[in-house]
Amino acid sequence: MEGRAVVEVDMTCQRCLEAVTVRIDAEFRLGLVEAEQSMVGLPDGLDPLLVRRYDTCSLARLIEDELILALPIVPKHDETEACAGKKFIADGATRTRRAFSGLGALWARAKDQE
Ligand SMILES: [Zn+2]
Repeated sequence: MEGRAVVEVDMTCQRCLEAVTVRIDAEFRLGLVEAEQSMVGLPDGLDPLLVRRYDTCSLARLIEDELILALPIVPKHDETEACAGKKFIADGATRTRRAFSGLGALWARAKDQE
């Protein structure tokens, strides 16, 4: 069984904490198996879907699961969109200091005092 589900969902941008619309494009290829042992023999690229004989499988539930799996872990505004968080990242980048940047000079001074 294979398919594709495309939706747009409203989420919270993790950079600016404002609403962001994220496009979810979930493609799936599933191999239906009746027993867990059969999962091993599935061809590459197929995810197993365990379906017991005479069981029913909810298509809506299946698509919902695939969409949840395709959700971004860290939703954020696209690079082309306005995002107040980008300013903080840009400012932070210029102010970032390396934690051990002065270590070499300290080491040299300590050596001189020996
Ligand atoms: Zn944002």
